[in-house]
Amino acid sequence: SDIGSQKERVVTEEEWLQKWEVGNIGFHKEQGHPLLQKYLDVLLNGRSGLRIFFPLCGKAVEMKWLADMGHSVVGVEVSEQAVKEFFSEHSLPYCEEPVTEISGAKMFQSTSGDISLYCCSIYDLSSSIVGKFDGVWDRGALVAVNPCDRQRYASLMISLVEKNSSYLLVTVSYDPNKHKGPPFYVPESKIKSLFG
Ligand code: SAH
Repeated sequence: SDIGSQKERVVTEEEWLQKWEVGNIGFHKEQGHPLLQKYLDVLLNGRSGLRIFFPLCGKAVEMKWLADMGHSVVGVEVSEQAVKEFFSEHSLPYCEEPVTEISGAKMFQSTSGDISLYCCSIYDLSSSIVGKFDGVWDRGALVAVNPCDRQRYASLMISLVEKNSSYLLVTVSYDPNKHKGPPFYVPESKIKSLFG
């Protein structure tokens, strides 16, 4: 099959929390991603003041970068430690509040109001809770999703975007028989079948 031995692999939420606790976060980059800079015009498409979604956001520095350009950023991340590190590393004051629709979930929002990070599983979100987005930056997100959850993830993402939205998706090309992932190998044929 196209993903060979990775097909059955599952990384649990507990394991992700553990990675954050022990600092096993090689996926986090201090520098803004070169592909976002390269394709920024595609994401924005001449528009300003967009609502941009960061699925599985970690503490991605690109959230600050887009907010500083005047866009409104919403992220979702299961690790509260990651969310708090994001705000503290950028010296951004924030407040936190429970998300009434999702038991146990919290929303952390910059005092300026332009960055809102939901601390919960992405599968708990819906457009009735977070609204719809004009743009998506999907880096380390689809490729971090367990292969068995991809269809659910893609359907959710499709339900969270406006008609005229732009979706930038970064995948990683490698031999899936040599690494167990994440990031998982997601071939282009799979992306086409997931997103159409
Ligand atoms: N996109 C980020 C982080 C990529 S790593 C970046 O570019 O740096 C994937 C992140 O997803 C981890 O921080 C992990 O804690 C988080 N995560 C994993 N499963 C999740 C889920 N179901 N819902 C929300 N976040 C999740």
